[in-house]
Amino acid sequence: MQLYNSETRRKEEFNPLNPAQVTMYCCGPTVYNYAHIGNMRTYIFEDLLGRTLRLRYPVKHVMNVTDVGHLVSDADDGEDKMEVGAAREGKSAWDIAKFYETKFFEDYDALHCTRPSVTSRATEHIQEMIALVKTLEEKGYTYRTSDGIYYDTSKFARYDALVGRSRLEGLKGGARVEMSEEKKNPTDFALWKFSPTDKKRQMEWDSPWGVGFPGWHVECSAMAMKYLGPTIDIHCGGIDHVSVHHTNEIAQSEAATGQKYVDYWVHGEFLVLRAGKMSKSGGTFVTLQTLRDKGYDPLDYRYLCLTAHYRTQLEFTYESLDSARKSLQTLRREVAKAQETALRQTAVSTARLGEMKAQFQAAMEDDLNAPKALAVVWEVLRGGDLNAAETVEFVKFADGVLSLDLFRAPEEKKVALPEEIQQLLQARAEARAAKDYKKSDELRDALRSAGYAVKDTPQGQQVEKL
Ligand code: AMP
Ligand code: ZN
Repeated sequence: MQLYNSETRRKEEFNPLNPAQVTMYCCGPTVYNYAHIGNMRTYIFEDLLGRTLRLRYPVKHVMNVTDVGHLVSDADDGEDKMEVGAAREGKSAWDIAKFYETKFFEDYDALHCTRPSVTSRATEHIQEMIALVKTLEEKGYTYRTSDGIYYDTSKFARYDALVGRSRLEGLKGGARVEMSEEKKNPTDFALWKFSPTDKKRQMEWDSPWGVGFPGWHVECSAMAMKYLGPTIDIHCGGIDHVSVHHTNEIAQSEAATGQKYVDYWVHGEFLVLRAGKMSKSGGTFVTLQTLRDKGYDPLDYRYLCLTAHYRTQLEFTYESLDSARKSLQTLRREVAKAQETALRQTAVSTARLGEMKAQFQAAMEDDLNAPKALAVVWEVLRGGDLNAAETVEFVKFADGVLSLDLFRAPEEKKVALPEEIQQLLQARAEARAAKDYKKSDELRDALRSAGYAVKDTPQGQQVEKL
């Protein structure tokens, strides 16, 4: 399997540390508001990665829930997003966390994302975070300011190279004018923040340095290493995490353990709106519920995400969602047809089937080329080389990775019926109720001449435009 590693900026052959258990850590949601469909694009790509890996290896997948410590700016400024959410809704920060975590998983499940092997809440791992900061302190990587314990990035030799030139130039050129005077370097970040003296925080803990709360970056390092060990095969997240959050995770984890933290960094590109970035804090965002309210199925959105490679930006429009929905329905109709034919035709050529499965898997294993894998599915269903029974077997395999519910009964083609046709149908229903089958047959003929085929089913008459 080939994966693009954001750290080396190359596609690389994936070699796990231990093929008996691939380890994967994905940054989870900050639960102070609903997740938007941009966030969900990232979880869908991570799910595809997990499902593709599972074709070859058992996978231990850990995802955190950030329920404390993510400040309004991804650097260390401003308020804690949880406390902002609590003030906005007049609830406690704990209630806010619980509520939005539940809502998040409702969407996550509806999009068929596989639940992680371990879901870890930051607030339940404070001691692990304190222990990590203590280790960094003992090794001389920290210093104290009036508002917290900070990581001294100048002590970590690889830091500047990891950050990338553009962010460094921005920082050194004074782009961050608000930098606290007490910070030694613009890139230094908080490991532990003290509670403010003028305001009571809802979420705070004792620590060797004073009452306060952990920094967002240290949360992920502490939880990832607790469950997956000092070196992890794959660490995922959205592209926005590359230059700050994940760089800081590397710096603090490797400084603490002296070992490589992550072998493959895999990042998903953003979903954008024509107007620009979709932002949770800005309030201008589309949620899965917005789509449901407009009559879409969550899997229509999953299909849309699969039509773009995870490393390209995807612009969200309702036109593209409509065409995703149509394509998915067509696929389901083709699958239903194949299933029906397969009932009468059972011979399976494993060689031909194997070839198409291999083509599908090769596309997914080529840095998760889902659009190409989908094209293989279309090729099979649009009269490729497989017979109906082989097609059904192939779809079972492909849908195990794509998870689009391809065996769901297709929706009937909805036709808006003209008034006169509705009247004929009504008259026919009445004739049948009165057991006047002669009249019922005449009405069927009349409908046929008007261009409509009618079928009698246990649910009543079904009509289709010819
Ligand atoms: P958050 O809940 O804000 O911590 O973000 C959860 C995940 O969504 C992270 O992996 C982010 O990188 C990712 N993310 C945020 N915005 C977008 C977007 N517009 N498109 C795709 N992924 C995003
Ligand atoms: Zn994280």
